[in-house]
Amino acid sequence: MSEHANLLKRHRAVMPAWIPLNYREPIEIVGGKGSRVTDAEGNGYLDFFTGILTNMLGYDVPEVREAVERQLATGIVHTSTSYLLRGQVELAEKIARLSGIPDAKVFFANSGTEANETALLLAAYARRSDQVLAMRQSYHGRSFGATGVTGNRAWTNLSYSPLNVHFLHGADRHLPQFAGMSDEAYIDACVQDLRHVLATATGGDVAALIAEPIQGVGGFTMPPDGLFAAYKTVLDEYGILLISDEVQTGWGRTGQSFWGMGNHGVTPDVMTFAKGLGNGFAVGGVVARGDLMDALPVAGISTFGGNPISMAAANATLDYVLEHDLQANAARQGATLIGGLEAAAGRFPIVRDVRGKGLMFAVELADPRTGEPSPALAAAVMEAARERGLLVGKGGLYGNVIRMAPPMTLTDAEAAEGLGIVIAALEAVNREAA
Ligand code: PLP
Repeated sequence: MSEHANLLKRHRAVMPAWIPLNYREPIEIVGGKGSRVTDAEGNGYLDFFTGILTNMLGYDVPEVREAVERQLATGIVHTSTSYLLRGQVELAEKIARLSGIPDAKVFFANSGTEANETALLLAAYARRSDQVLAMRQSYHGRSFGATGVTGNRAWTNLSYSPLNVHFLHGADRHLPQFAGMSDEAYIDACVQDLRHVLATATGGDVAALIAEPIQGVGGFTMPPDGLFAAYKTVLDEYGILLISDEVQTGWGRTGQSFWGMGNHGVTPDVMTFAKGLGNGFAVGGVVARGDLMDALPVAGISTFGGNPISMAAANATLDYVLEHDLQANAARQGATLIGGLEAAAGRFPIVRDVRGKGLMFAVELADPRTGEPSPALAAAVMEAARERGLLVGKGGLYGNVIRMAPPMTLTDAEAAEGLGIVIAALEAVNREAA
């Protein structure tokens, strides 16, 4: 048995069966530089999924590595939130300013799940309500609260949430009653749905609406710009808080605005973040109106949240994003990639949709004969891309969406190379399916 096969056997013996190892033959990544990684067998790949959007500057970035090494050299890896930490204050100042939230305060955690759990607690406590609105097809994490507001059947089945959750429409327009609707008409229909839910299912005393501006795990489904502005008008009538889960959409990745909710012209009351901020180091958090943050007595306590190593990595990563204007790069490379995929899609009957903003884009696959979502075709495209040297992600309610989120440092040449591979992979799978 090869070393690789042996590792996989050991993994299966001691790790949960549901951990998805995306590929038919799971990959063991052992090295990375820039936008590329290498596996244990010596194969090199261009990485268009970056560890689920965690390495937003790519791999082995000197500025991040050196910041972490400087912190390590002090002898302090961790001290807990019981102490005053310079890196925390500096990062919180930057995030509070960038958030656009008035009098914002920031709390650091270790993951997106923890950030969302804190945000939900914050909202429930501020509004003295366990009622929450969430979006169908959403994903917010693995805890009791986060699975509770996750509107994806794979997770909702697991949920024993303490929250009283009502799910809204607004992210997926594939249902027949929305066919052919303009954005304006669709937004009107979604607002009516919100008003109906509030009036008939809740009595109005709801703590918050939690939503991803673009749904990540849901398959990069994109509500039309302006939806959340329309929702916010109604929420404000009731005093309901808007929590934007920016775990995938923050830091300029969508190109258009620095935060996903900015694409809707909305400043939420609370935002949660994680994934890319530490460029691979675990950091998550919540930025919220100061009055909300101050009202929650336990908001400032986390043993590992905001530890000095994560703070060093996150400060260096965020500085890099801003100094190199990676939002502009995301917009530019995204336009090339999405435009290129849209132009090619007409040749491939297996492609049902191409969508995205900036460096967060997707190709949705369906059986050309039945029009049904096809996870098998998505798996085949993933394998075909891998064979050609490109890593991508999978997602969507039915597992039929190829998701791509390359590093925000992507170069013109890498964008062209990746685009060529995705098109070649679609071509190969389309030929087989015909
Ligand atoms: N929120 C969103 C939008 C996510 O995509 C994820 C993870 O994929 C989470 C929350 C949970 O984050 P974590 O896995 O860091 O707990």
